[in-house]
Amino acid sequence: MRVGIIGGGQLGRMIALAAYPLGARVTFLDPAPDAPMNFLAKQICGTYEDEHALEQLARESDVVTYEFENVPVASAQLISQFTKIFPPPEALRVSQDRLEEKSLFQSLEILTPKFAQVDSLMDLEKAVDEIGLPAVLKTRRMGYDGKGQFVIRTRDEIERAWNELGNAPLILEAFVNFTREVSIIAARGQGGACVFYPLVENHHRDGILRVSLAPAEARFLARHAPTHEGAARNDKDVARNDKQAQEYARRVLNELNYVGVLAIEFFQVGDKLLANEMAPRVHNSGHWTMEGAVTSQFENHARAILGLPLGSTETRGFSAMVNLIGALPDVNALLQIPDAHVHLYDKTPRAGRKLGHVTIVAKDETTRDERLIQVKAILSANNTNNTNF
Ligand code: AMP
Repeated sequence: MRVGIIGGGQLGRMIALAAYPLGARVTFLDPAPDAPMNFLAKQICGTYEDEHALEQLARESDVVTYEFENVPVASAQLISQFTKIFPPPEALRVSQDRLEEKSLFQSLEILTPKFAQVDSLMDLEKAVDEIGLPAVLKTRRMGYDGKGQFVIRTRDEIERAWNELGNAPLILEAFVNFTREVSIIAARGQGGACVFYPLVENHHRDGILRVSLAPAEARFLARHAPTHEGAARNDKDVARNDKQAQEYARRVLNELNYVGVLAIEFFQVGDKLLANEMAPRVHNSGHWTMEGAVTSQFENHARAILGLPLGSTETRGFSAMVNLIGALPDVNALLQIPDAHVHLYDKTPRAGRKLGHVTIVAKDETTRDERLIQVKAILSANNTNNTNF
């Protein structure tokens, strides 16, 4: 089967690496001649609006997928005139707009932070009255990794927030004082079968994901934040959260007649999950599955779009994933940690750029945490700005 991928970044690269053993040939579309998929697959060099390039990709592929959610919906629709494209363009449309996304969650009875549409300074003042402060003003479109956001803490900041972001459609959300951030990675096959990985605990800094811990254990909180309200929770609560997240993900997958991997990020508040956003693609918080689960998210995505049965999502123990951001650490040292695996994306180092990740797997949590501390020490040794996790 010929697989086309829109976008040639690390996610596309890891989808391709998982699709090859299934017999796929991969072509990708990316405007950058030095994209991370460069030496891995055939490239069509063109922009994501280039109709000629999109048609060529479609004609050379039995199925097309994408590795980022800002692919223009019109481009996905154009592809669908020539060949199959998964996940469906509707999933792209919804996830490109925070208001659409939260409205979909609401219509499926998935809890979210309180939110309101904001198109004028007057709307913003009204929304602040309804939602209260603090609140987060966000651009509805093209926001990622914390960009296009303003936390309003007092009423006199309203005007400044409006002046900073007000030239685009906006959404105001209640600021959630969450216990932690978690995500679910789910996949749906062409016949409608769904599989779910366990909830993952995610740690962000400066709006960028740094570390994921899987499965998201209550005990991590108990050990590392004993004074936190979440610490009193036990494993039964975790199981309940897992079930809740799976049920939420299933509703979204079925509503969109989805095929492929979907990620939903939540704020956990006590034992409640509030949906923050979704990504219609493989997701950074699912990278641990490469070694930490029986079937990786990338393989399950490839299986889904190729119309193959989905694989087991069972874990192989306790995993952690640490992003390598900005500069590369001592890879030799990392690889000396037992069951540590380094994945590099072939990208030129630059501040804030994701260059790779390390996954660690262990039979028990204590060993996982010990190895995580070793990773942290190696990352701080050459001052790679990766360390505060
Ligand atoms: P987002 O781009 O929506 O994923 O936001 C990036 C990060 O900002 C999230 O991972 C949270 O850490 C934080 N954040 C976003 N929205 C909220 C909110 N409503 N309340 C509290 N923190 C938020």
